Amino acid sequence: MSKIIVLMGAPGAGKGTQARLLQERLRLPQISTGDMFRALMKTETPLAEELRPLLTLGRLVPDELTIRVVRERTAQADCRGGYILDGFPRTTAQAEMLEGLAAEQGHALLAVLVDVPYDVLEKRMTGRRNCPVCGEIYNVYFKPPAHDEVCDLHPEAKLVHRADDNADTARDRVETFERDTRPLLDFYETTGRLRRVDGNRDVEAIYADVEKAVNS
Ligand code: AMP
Repeated sequence: MSKIIVLMGAPGAGKGTQARLLQERLRLPQISTGDMFRALMKTETPLAEELRPLLTLGRLVPDELTIRVVRERTAQADCRGGYILDGFPRTTAQAEMLEGLAAEQGHALLAVLVDVPYDVLEKRMTGRRNCPVCGEIYNVYFKPPAHDEVCDLHPEAKLVHRADDNADTARDRVETFERDTRPLLDFYETTGRLRRVDGNRDVEAIYADVEKAVNS
C-alpha cells in the first residue's frame, strides 16, 4: 500500500535533511510546509505580508491556511504513489485533517521521529545554512561546506542563513514544538504508527535507520 511518511522532530533535528535523502533515494515527493511558506513569503501578495511576521518569529501559521496548502499540493499527480511530509502536521487539528486526507487518498501513514537531545538542537539551528539554488542543507558545526559559505555544487551561490535560525527564535520554536506538536507523537505511538530513530549521529547512519523504519 502507498504511504504517507511523516517526518517528525523538533526544529533542528534534521528532518529536512532526511526528507531530502528519502526523496532522492525512494523517489517520492518531499513536501515541506516550511519551504512552501518561505517561497510564498517572497511573492508580492497580501499572503506574503501575513506570513512574514509569523515565519520570522517562528510562530505557527494558522491551521486553516496550512491545511489548504497541504491539501492542494498533495492532490497533484506526483503524490499518487505516496509522499513525504516534512514539518506537517504540527498541531492536533492538522493531524486530524491528515487522517481524513490519508483515507480519502488511500494511503497508509507512518510517522518517523528523528530524536535529538535538546542541547544539540540550538547548535543545529544556529549553524544551519542553505544553498539558495538547490536547497542543500549545511551546518557550520556539523556538516560544513568544502569552502566557507558557498555550496559544494553551486560555488557561485553564497549560502543563506534562515532569519528564524537565530538563538532566541530557535528557543521559541522548540517551545512551540513541545507544546503543540509533541502530543502528536503520543497519538501516532498509541495507534502503532510511530518509529523512533536516534538523530544524534551522522547523516548516513540516521538515514539507514529512517529507511528501515519506512520499510517496516
Ligand atoms: P520549518 O522549515 O519546518 O522549520 O518551518 C518554518 C516555519 O514555517 C515555522 O516556524 C512556521 O512559522 C511555518 N510552518 C511550517 N510548517 C508549519 C505547519 N505545519 N503549521 C504551522 N506553521 C508551519
